[in-house]
Amino acid sequence: MARLFWPLLPLLCDLIYGSLTTPDLLQRVLQPNDSVRPPTGSSSALPNNTSDSGQTQKPVAHAAADSENSLGLGISSSSTETLVEFPESLGNQSVCETEHCYELARAMAMAMNTSINPCDDFYEYACGNWTSYNPMPDDQSSWDNFQVVAQKLTKQLREVLERDDPNDLSTARRKARTFYKACLDMDRMDTLGTWPLIKLLQSTLNGWPVLMADWNVAKFDWLSTIRRTKKYGFGLFLEWVGAGDPENPKKNMVHFVEGSLGMSSRKYYFANHSEFVRTAYKGLMRDLIVLLRDDSSHISAENMTLVQKDADDVYEFESFLAEVTRTEEDRRNLSLSLNKMTLEEFHTRCLNSSISLRDLMDYMSSIMPNATLKALVTKDLLINVGNPDYFLKVHQKLAEYSRDPKKQRVVANYIGWRLTMEFSAKMTQKLRDVVEAFSQSVDGSKKEPERWKICANKANSVMNTAVGSLYVKNYFNESSKAKIAGLVKDLREAFSNIIEKADWMDETTRTRAFTKLDSMYEYIGYADYIIDDVARLDKEYDHLDFGPDHVYNCISINKFSVESNMKDLLKKNNRSLDEALSPADVNAFYDPANNIIAFVAGILQFPFYDASRPEYLNYAGIGAIIGHEITHGFDDQGSLFDADGKFFDWWSSESRARYTHKAHGLVSKYNNYTLPEGSVNGYLTLGENIADCGGVKEAFNAYQLYSSRKGVVEPLLPGFEGYTTEQLFFLGVAQGWCGSEREKTTRNLLLTASHSPKMFRVIGPLSSMPQFAESYQCPLGSRMNPELKAAVW
Ligand SMILES: [Zn+2]
Repeated sequence: MARLFWPLLPLLCDLIYGSLTTPDLLQRVLQPNDSVRPPTGSSSALPNNTSDSGQTQKPVAHAAADSENSLGLGISSSSTETLVEFPESLGNQSVCETEHCYELARAMAMAMNTSINPCDDFYEYACGNWTSYNPMPDDQSSWDNFQVVAQKLTKQLREVLERDDPNDLSTARRKARTFYKACLDMDRMDTLGTWPLIKLLQSTLNGWPVLMADWNVAKFDWLSTIRRTKKYGFGLFLEWVGAGDPENPKKNMVHFVEGSLGMSSRKYYFANHSEFVRTAYKGLMRDLIVLLRDDSSHISAENMTLVQKDADDVYEFESFLAEVTRTEEDRRNLSLSLNKMTLEEFHTRCLNSSISLRDLMDYMSSIMPNATLKALVTKDLLINVGNPDYFLKVHQKLAEYSRDPKKQRVVANYIGWRLTMEFSAKMTQKLRDVVEAFSQSVDGSKKEPERWKICANKANSVMNTAVGSLYVKNYFNESSKAKIAGLVKDLREAFSNIIEKADWMDETTRTRAFTKLDSMYEYIGYADYIIDDVARLDKEYDHLDFGPDHVYNCISINKFSVESNMKDLLKKNNRSLDEALSPADVNAFYDPANNIIAFVAGILQFPFYDASRPEYLNYAGIGAIIGHEITHGFDDQGSLFDADGKFFDWWSSESRARYTHKAHGLVSKYNNYTLPEGSVNGYLTLGENIADCGGVKEAFNAYQLYSSRKGVVEPLLPGFEGYTTEQLFFLGVAQGWCGSEREKTTRNLLLTASHSPKMFRVIGPLSSMPQFAESYQCPLGSRMNPELKAAVW
């Protein structure tokens, strides 16, 4: 379970935003950036989807039923007319005539909008009709190939989680099934009512003030409360996690980090574009309070005005916390987040106004799960403080508030709110409905996902390796593992050639870059032990037990995750993602702190990889994804970690200056991309844009390596005889990103996401490649062939 990344940043660079979505209703939209639950609670999961099969099959079947001419691009070469003149077909390139190739060709053709000039907008040209054949399900806020595959995968997870297999002796897998089953039992949740939450608020806070007429401020102090809430995952004003030491990746250390916010980004509290998010969030708070007051045994006689005042105060207090939290942009500057000091220094510099050093040490040791860990807590303990200024300001505020009982109430109400927000979606139908309404008003989705989807994804996220093993055993095609390894080899070579030819790098830096590339670890599919070593798999979840009540199971998970994380402090970081990744995920990763590229089982399938189609489409699909992850090792953040994952600038100052200059070019390029919902933030998305651009280029070059090694010219697809192999490669790249998004989701992502919108993940990289312009014969100066081709690699 251990995932020991430097917690200061989203250092695990995933391929698609937020590693898809979190499964919880509430977290679906505004996932708290809570690094306190790195192993399980907040880790990635799959989205919740609807229909039966991989949707990519749908247009194919549909097309087969239609006349082949209905889309103007059937299966004869005469129908491939577009607005550009294609190079003369050499006439000697064969065409793949299998039924599979016909199906592929139909699906590719149907996604296209050939009335668009590919040199103006290649995304629209390649994907303009995709949405007509792949309408977004009502329960989704974003819909693309990744989600289509994830939908299929979720259904498969449901099957294996619902199947009672008496021969399966794994306790971990049995626990996953128990968890799933309890999650489905909504009648039981309704019968239990809101009592579990009320009880939790009672035991941590002596009751949530906003629900009570007789809340006793004299019994409240924030530090004792945080001591109790930390085990549920809420360290809030004194949050800390165990994670890798950036300067010594083999070692783990304590990192004090900014507390999470109710909404995942500070921008939601202030940005002009986010007024609708704030309104929905305030509404959620008010509605949950009202519902809980109705249910509470401490029903107060106070009127709604007081409720509103309490809610407003909580929001205002959280806005203050948001204000002193770093922006996403500042978080990209890694050196800002490296501030090592002793516990005593931390206290003197940042906490002096609010608590004593003794209190700080007591707080930490009291939540440590065993004596060895407790013994770690001394005033000389070396820690890292992600944002010293945050702690200084928050603790000045807490000190000021502690002198005023009315303000104490605000702090208590805030803590109560965060617990309520965490657990409301596991309560009664009424509460779940309020949470769902909030989700929909924020992300624009129109329907709640079916319960089994929520539960299958939640089970996968909390027991990633156990559920992953079920997936791998039942659905993963083993033969793809070796084939993907072959592609990775070509992609590595392609990147190596790029380094070789980078005339802006000096020789010392180049040699170090080679060393880093050579020592990059590969994780492909899954870790063997989840299939071969049941004892190890079971041991991972040894201390986790589930019963019939979903909410208590979720509480157990939070406690388990926090404890596991603390225990990690005693472990050596063994440069492995084995326990961190979900094999049943449709995503890929780079982890700079361990220098590992990872392609989990869920993504090693159609449409990203398909053993029965021409390889140029595989290099365009999974190849570009592999290239993307390799390039992350050399993006503006990844390049600050050396071959062993140590945070260390191994570049000469001259080469670094030239790198930065090139990166600036890319920032300007993406800053100019706009959508009706807003503009792309070129700096916020820089790392991903570098990876996108490098990935496609490497995949293109890797395919050249492949085809010259094989010495064969692969066949074209039926209906695409007028195209060249290169043109089909680029079409394949672009169609990997076909998709659509709700307007509100686009607005939120433009503001906060590290990835560019789908269309610019195509237009950006392809317009920086002369090979693209040449293959589609785009005139110099056209949008897809600008004079200035900004690129880092
Ligand atoms: Zn990425």
